[in-house]
Amino acid sequence: MTEPRSVIVIGAGHNGLACATYLARAGRKVLVLEAAAQPGGAAITREFAPGFRVSAVAHLLHLLDPVVERELGLAQHGLAYARDALATVSLAGERAPLVLSGGSILSGEVSAADRSALRAHAARMQKFARLIARQHGRVPPRLRFDSWRDALPALALALDIRRLGRKDMREFLRLATMNIYDVLEEQFEHPGLKGALALDAVLGARLGPRSGNSVYTSLYRQSGAVNGRCGALALPRGGMGAVTDALAAAARAAGVGIRCGASVESILVRDGRACGVRLERGEELGAELVVSNADPQRSLLRLLGARHLEAEFARRVHNLRAAGNAAKLHLALGGRPQFRGLSAAQLGERLLIAPDVDYVERAFNPAKYGEFSTQPVLEITLPSLHDRGLAPAGREVLSAVVQYAPYDLKGGWAVGKERFLAAVMATLEEHAPGIGALVQHAELLTPMDIEQQFGITGGHWHHGELALDQFMVLRPVPGAAQYATPVAGLYLCGAGCHPGGGVMGTAGRNAARVIAGGG
Ligand SMILES: Cc1cc2nc3c(=O)[nH]c(=O)nc-3n(C[C@H](O)[C@H](O)[C@H](O)COP(=O)(O)OP(=O)(O)OC[C@H]3O[C@@H](n4cnc5c(N)ncnc54)[C@H](O)[C@@H]3O)c2cc1C
Repeated sequence: MTEPRSVIVIGAGHNGLACATYLARAGRKVLVLEAAAQPGGAAITREFAPGFRVSAVAHLLHLLDPVVERELGLAQHGLAYARDALATVSLAGERAPLVLSGGSILSGEVSAADRSALRAHAARMQKFARLIARQHGRVPPRLRFDSWRDALPALALALDIRRLGRKDMREFLRLATMNIYDVLEEQFEHPGLKGALALDAVLGARLGPRSGNSVYTSLYRQSGAVNGRCGALALPRGGMGAVTDALAAAARAAGVGIRCGASVESILVRDGRACGVRLERGEELGAELVVSNADPQRSLLRLLGARHLEAEFARRVHNLRAAGNAAKLHLALGGRPQFRGLSAAQLGERLLIAPDVDYVERAFNPAKYGEFSTQPVLEITLPSLHDRGLAPAGREVLSAVVQYAPYDLKGGWAVGKERFLAAVMATLEEHAPGIGALVQHAELLTPMDIEQQFGITGGHWHHGELALDQFMVLRPVPGAAQYATPVAGLYLCGAGCHPGGGVMGTAGRNAARVIAGGG
């Protein structure tokens, strides 16, 4: 017998935890089943070398939904920041590094024309990013309206665009169809400035600056705020695991049960309705509803099984583009590295290796053909400079997102990984001479490693490419864009749903609202 109002959530990623908490607060009896040994999904802190701890996949907080943060009381449950507004430093080899924060240049040789263009560009992009952010918390509209209620989100979006005013509306529609390369070429001269802005548009995506859709991904990246500051980049104290520890504490306080080491093998279906799960160890657990925080392909094709789906819907899920391109590098360093031209204070900011926009595009080129970049782009942080709990005294942790590292590498990662690590270290060495000699341990996670260790199909940042044909009403696929799947009683709540990936919690909150509203 299934207990009335019971819900099983598959996965204790941050979205699964957020969804579970909202559902428990709405009176549901919720059990979260997590395959890994600890909750948090791709937002955890873990030891990667004796005494060295790092944010294992996601490493910067910039999209956390302020509504989720407030409603779930994350600060009361222990979330604090080691730094809440990192500046961005564009490393440029021989040139002086450029230091940016929002629309301001904090240091670097930049013309007055570029400074003023950056202010105008940042203000315009912020305005458009706020429009995108307003859509995050709305359940996407249905393509077919059965009632006025169904039509409301679409009307709200149209109204938001209309409210921009004629001039901005025209500019928004123009930019939304452009690539970031052309936008940056139109406005700026400084190569380092263009490189840094281009990298922000393509991080986590299978895109180069010249790819279509790259203005949308740039706006998406800017759509967050930390501590009320739009576009801010934060380091949670204790690493990203502090965010999911706070979410897990909020979940437990709401009465949610969390079982780790409980890998779900399949979703059980009776009379066309999801009615529970079977664990890999054979145990079966019943529930009135099942909600999956795993990515859409894993949830629907592997755990549920295509046989429970209509062929056209299963084909759409199968065709989702979800092959990751971002790798993660962790270095345990025996001392503080020195980057060319950087002061000790600047070392603690967010450092980018993207010296110009063509460099970023060239780094992307090999990935189109299943090869990794031999001169990759990097987003680097040294979190232990702000958070001494992450490394032993006198030593440091370096954490970097590295692109491009295609999931489906030609020849396979078993052969390619060592060569890619060597290329990444050679690139780092150019900017930080002597860093190699400080390395006591290096961990490189390719998208294949991320798939295997974190259960994300393709190891993709967003559980599925964030592209115009996979967004909002089309995310993850038509027929599941409102979190409910075609199988009664089965819902999705992870990054593969609207609004997408990044540590935000919004997909979990939206899914819970649909479920609690009986939708
Ligand atoms: C290299 C890289 C760097 C990134 N950097 C950043 C960053 O700096 N900032 C940022 O905001 N975002 C970043 N991201 C994106 C971010 O990590 C993800 O979008 C986010 O963690 C997704 O959260 P989620 O809760 O939806 O899913 P996940 O975090 O993937 O959680 C899903 C959970 O489901 C569990 N699960 C899966 N299958 C099963 C099963 N069968 N049984 C039980 N449990 C199961 C998994 O173990 C996992 O715990 C990065 C991503 C990558 C790949």
